[in-house]
Amino acid sequence: MNARGQKPDMKTLHPATQLVHGGTNRSQFGEVSEALFLTQAYAYPDMETAEARMKGAEPGYVYSRYSNPTVDMFQQRIALLEGAEAARATASGMAAVTTALMAQLRAGDHVVAARAMFGACLYVVEDMLPRFGVPSTLVDGGDLSRWRAAMRPETKLLFLETPTNPCLEVYDIAAIAAIAHEYGARLVVDNVFATPILQKPLALGADCVVYSATKHIDGHGRCLGGIILGGRDLIENEIHPFYKQTGPCLSPFNAWVFLKSLETLALRVRQQGQNAERITEFLSGHRHVFNVRYPGRPDHPQADVVKRQMSGGGTLVSFEVRGGKPAAFAFANRLSLIAIANNLGDAKSLITHPATTTHQRLTPEARAALGVTDGLLRLSAGLEDAGDLIADLDAALEVLDSQDLAAE
Ligand SMILES: *Cc1c(COP(=O)(O)O)cnc(C)c1O
Repeated sequence: MNARGQKPDMKTLHPATQLVHGGTNRSQFGEVSEALFLTQAYAYPDMETAEARMKGAEPGYVYSRYSNPTVDMFQQRIALLEGAEAARATASGMAAVTTALMAQLRAGDHVVAARAMFGACLYVVEDMLPRFGVPSTLVDGGDLSRWRAAMRPETKLLFLETPTNPCLEVYDIAAIAAIAHEYGARLVVDNVFATPILQKPLALGADCVVYSATKHIDGHGRCLGGIILGGRDLIENEIHPFYKQTGPCLSPFNAWVFLKSLETLALRVRQQGQNAERITEFLSGHRHVFNVRYPGRPDHPQADVVKRQMSGGGTLVSFEVRGGKPAAFAFANRLSLIAIANNLGDAKSLITHPATTTHQRLTPEARAALGVTDGLLRLSAGLEDAGDLIADLDAALEVLDSQDLAAE
């Protein structure tokens, strides 16, 4: 806002600008960097105002479990980027997923979800929802006929993530949204792996998008958080009452950290994506490596869908080393720059062995069905120099030249 009170219309500006300025709400002090309103409650000028605000008859803050100015700025900034009418920020990505699902479902409804998904999301859909009278059917998300076959008259929600964790399969959001709508159901998309920079599920027909802000949105490995985005009616009339009364709200401190991170989100995702591409090229030709998966490559099994719905391949690469678990462990233990951690989207490159960590809970058969083999590794490319990362991978892969490991 300038001296004449003019404010640019953020909706008409480009993402890079929205990420720096979107949602900014300056206090009377005119601070340039967004203020951190670390407060639980708000003092009212008088009892009449308290009564009116509690009733919703007058706008204004009441209690930070419902809303908070710093959290609002974060919500508005991402909503602009996503092209969503409204958003609610949560304490973690799982709080976003659980709130989005619980708030939209009731006993008697049915959910269809893609089997390949983040472990905790699988727990919510497969184990928790049925306890509350909401059965779920898990399908191969890449096969549209499976989605269609699973639909029932009482199917209320379809849920998926794409690209998937950890095998980076890609599902056709527009086609699955069309199936949902044909049956009067809604589609919820977990867009963590693609990020709001590379994929816009709402524009492709999804009704609701969820993120773990813990990943690329923070991008520096500090705070947990999440966000739910969608149309105004869905967010304000279905998500908000549940959110307000059950308390999955985001700390204003974490919202403030995320606001600063959003300023560099596009730059980071672009650079980390370039690093992921360079790493993919290196791994693809390596003697100890096979089945390299990166959504940005022409040899990706769903390259045509990637082309239609993503504007880049993302920051993650998955691959298998020859020699199963002993080889995967020996290789990862030799890395000196790339850290072993089951997080992703960080400025620091991280590697994980899904079979023994994120997917440990599954039976060997369930892991096999998802392609989570004993030799599979998932690499989250960070912001380091790509040449340094490749040198680290190259040196660590040399350990597999040993006969013992190759024989496994
Ligand atoms: C990390 C992650 C979540 C959960 O987020 P938290 O912030 O860890 O609760 C959900 N979905 C996907 C795809 C994730 O990567």
